[in-house]
Amino acid sequence: VASHRLPGAGPAVVVHGGAWDIPDEALQAHREGLRRAVGVGRRLVERGTRALDVATEAVAVLEGHGAFDAGCGAMLNQDGEAELDAGLMDGASGDYGSVMAVRRLPEPVRVARRLLDAGKGRVRMLAATGAERFAEAQGMPLVDNDALVSARERRRYERLRSEAEARHPSASFLPGASGERLGDTVGCVVRDADGHLAAATSTGGTPFKPPGRVGDSPLPGAGFYASPRAAAGATGWGEAIAGVVLSREAVAAVESGTDVETAARHGLAAMHERVASPDGKGATGGLILADAAGRAAWAHTTPRMAAAGWSADAGAPWVEIGERSAG
Ligand code: ASP
Repeated sequence: VASHRLPGAGPAVVVHGGAWDIPDEALQAHREGLRRAVGVGRRLVERGTRALDVATEAVAVLEGHGAFDAGCGAMLNQDGEAELDAGLMDGASGDYGSVMAVRRLPEPVRVARRLLDAGKGRVRMLAATGAERFAEAQGMPLVDNDALVSARERRRYERLRSEAEARHPSASFLPGASGERLGDTVGCVVRDADGHLAAATSTGGTPFKPPGRVGDSPLPGAGFYASPRAAAGATGWGEAIAGVVLSREAVAAVESGTDVETAARHGLAAMHERVASPDGKGATGGLILADAAGRAAWAHTTPRMAAAGWSADAGAPWVEIGERSAG
């Protein structure tokens, strides 16, 4: 497990842009997007914006950026369509909202944010056309799916499709059947000026997923979680993350006194031990974590993870592509 701790404490923003073997040629775009998102988050925190809204805005920046597997950069499903999941949670109240398998929402995290309030606790998660109808009724923009399909992802889709057909037509429903292990989900945890916490996550899911597939990202406890004491966001192989309820586990560890960096490391190590991926190796992923004091960390078991953070104490934001040394 590789891990990093954000220097300082107090108000803090941590964003990530996925944990996987991020290719060299994608690093600059990842850094640029993260820098922008953490900059927006920082300005909002400094203005006294509440954690939940800071996390929403930072994730919306990443959805709109194009470099990541979210919003207009999303990887495509087997039908060649972008199908998005997003969710967020307010640590102070325990309220959450999420949308999943949506195809017409350019910024699903904003719809999840709206649902958190408008659902009034009676509805917290909406799927597919149900979420799109909610957004429309709220006066939020709907787009054609084409608007969310980038040229880069269309090319990836064509390649994966031809590979899947050549290899074993019936096996193409298996995630990772292509041999590509990708995870470019985005997320954010925030500790605001009042000491409140929030977490938000958004994704296009796994490449060439079967239509309707939902991973960890829109599930509270799995892809994101926030309590009065800690907030977490996860990325990586969603089927494994959901099975170990990774974000809740990390938050629970902090609540019982573990420091954020150790909690993130332990959560990922436990998942790696407990869940085997189809290749027989342990499941991998990444986590961002912050506590009520504003101590923050991130950790990953994947070769690389893109993350950025700002802490009021430490001053200038940092942006890093973390590397896990081999072995
Ligand atoms: N966890 C996401 C999913 O399984 C993928 C990722 O993190 O990139 O949908």
